Amino acid sequence: MNQPNAPSSPRPDRRWILRGAFLAAVPYALLPAARAGAEPRAVDYPFADWQPANPSNRTAADRPASHRVDRVVIHVTQTEYTKTLAVFQNPKKKVSAHYVVRSVDGHVAQCVRESDIAWHAGNWEYNTRSVGIEHEGWVDRPAYFTDALYERSARLTASVCERYGISRDRAHIIGHYEVPGTDHTDPGPNWDWARYMRLVNSV
Ligand SMILES: [Zn+2]
Repeated sequence: MNQPNAPSSPRPDRRWILRGAFLAAVPYALLPAARAGAEPRAVDYPFADWQPANPSNRTAADRPASHRVDRVVIHVTQTEYTKTLAVFQNPKKKVSAHYVVRSVDGHVAQCVRESDIAWHAGNWEYNTRSVGIEHEGWVDRPAYFTDALYERSARLTASVCERYGISRDRAHIIGHYEVPGTDHTDPGPNWDWARYMRLVNSV
């Protein structure tokens, strides 16, 4: 996670307008889980649980048309999974990531649509061009980096790379510490990059 890194003037949320127009044209019976008043389930990764960040914590966009997506940024939360979701839902925090992976079982939450810009890299250009994935844990507590976390996260990253044509290498799948200008160290020295990249490339 990171401090505010939004552009100076937020753009109007055009996607919601477009989505409204789209939904108006779809027969009601075709909508997923048509609970009265509920927002339609809106994940980009089919195995993710939709846990939306507050709209104040991300920038609406139309990626990849509006911004090329060519990086995946790997993070560690430095707090618990549920607290991470709560931070992203708090409009005062000004931070978000597209995904959060839970330690114990590798469960994946999606918090920001991939078409939108999440605020995770501490660098606006890198926010615009990347998908950010948070992992529950601490950089100095390697026990949080479970087999399930590595395996489920690798499947998610492979899916992102496949869908945007991103090379599955360390030039394009980077740690937060590799973002220019950051003072963050995550995922830290206990993150097994060799293992992770092997898993990403074996999917
Ligand atoms: Zn980070």
